[in-house]
Amino acid sequence: MLQPIAVGHKSLADYTHVAGKPLVEEIRQLAAELEGLKVLHLSATAFGGGVSEILYTLVPLMRDVGIEAEWQVMLGREEFYNVTKLMHNALQGNPQGLTPEQWQVFAKYNELNALELSEGWDVIIIHDPQPAAILQHVPEKGKRWIWRCHIDLSTPNPTVIDRMVPLIRSYDGAVFHLPDYVPDGLDGTPIHICPPAIDPLSPKNMAFSPEDAAYVCDQFGLDVDRPLMCQVSRFDPWKDPMGVIDAYRAVKEKIPNVQLALIGSMATDDPEGWEFFNQTVAHADGDPDVHILNNLNSVGAIEVNAFQSQADVVIQKSTREGFGLTVSEALWKARPFIGGNVGGIPLQVEDGESGYLVGSAQECADRSIAILEDPDLGKRLGRAGKEHVRRHFLTPRLLRDWLRIFATGR
Ligand code: UDP
Repeated sequence: MLQPIAVGHKSLADYTHVAGKPLVEEIRQLAAELEGLKVLHLSATAFGGGVSEILYTLVPLMRDVGIEAEWQVMLGREEFYNVTKLMHNALQGNPQGLTPEQWQVFAKYNELNALELSEGWDVIIIHDPQPAAILQHVPEKGKRWIWRCHIDLSTPNPTVIDRMVPLIRSYDGAVFHLPDYVPDGLDGTPIHICPPAIDPLSPKNMAFSPEDAAYVCDQFGLDVDRPLMCQVSRFDPWKDPMGVIDAYRAVKEKIPNVQLALIGSMATDDPEGWEFFNQTVAHADGDPDVHILNNLNSVGAIEVNAFQSQADVVIQKSTREGFGLTVSEALWKARPFIGGNVGGIPLQVEDGESGYLVGSAQECADRSIAILEDPDLGKRLGRAGKEHVRRHFLTPRLLRDWLRIFATGR
């Protein structure tokens, strides 16, 4: 049996005041036709990263509107996760491919999970590449299979995507964040474009008073009366925390009292992550105004919320980014935002209107200085960013998109 994940209860009605009545009514109308549909979400993990963040809200909201939705996590061991991490990196463009032995590990765990999968589903949604090969073993266990891709497939390693595409082709549909991410070779497969979304009522995104945010940040040693730049992201080279430190240094030359917080969650069993974390700490070179914190310092959802809410500039200086939930999280808090002009970030930010898109540490520094020196500019950007997120990137919109996909397949 695969591991079921308990998600608690959420009510769509609670979202009406932030997402608007017309959307909530549209959802109810669509859902009325889908009452009792049995939907399984299958993913590789229930902790960390964007996929679990989304499912903890989407699954209870699906249930609230009458879908019999469940979320299960596949079974795996270290040898499998080592392979799927390589695969993930290769699909996002890393030149290192997989050896025949590594492909065998991938196949073995998919087959094992296929046997354990329960039957009788109307729709099985497979999230990301890790469980993508389950379908070929047990197509009869679901009436309809949909592959939900959460990563950037715009420039994949050809040796890996060439083996993934035939797997995806056997699905009844595939869902991507952006048209750019749809790989070649899926001509006969129904494709849906549907970016992810954030939960405005979760502890990470609910409204926090400035005083409460300051109280939390103060406890982590920040001077809440001085300007703060902040990036929240895993310690991963593609998130470019070192570039953020470089940008902060350039800002500090002009605005000496500026501080930087780099917040990143760490997996205890991810040696690569720790190595990069240590490199980032070394790059900060003991600067007392650079605060590098992670979940092992008790930085959970509330603390992430506090840092994002307190920051005078929120940065996501990625050099590659599938979507970047942290972008919508920052904008939803009406913070002035600066992000790398890559992947899903430009979808969320209109350069100069609701934040800035940058290509270098110097550009990031220049925009930060402009924002820190002109609070009215920051307010204007933040307000526009929040309205953009309200219209496009809150979970009720994502729920509506899924219901439309379910409805088209009936
Ligand atoms: N996150 C967190 N604590 C951290 C770092 C990240 O809670 O220390 C959250 C972040 O707020 C976001 C998610 O993890 O909700 C990361 O999703 P995103 O799409 O930004 O990037 P991914 O990690 O999936 O590449």
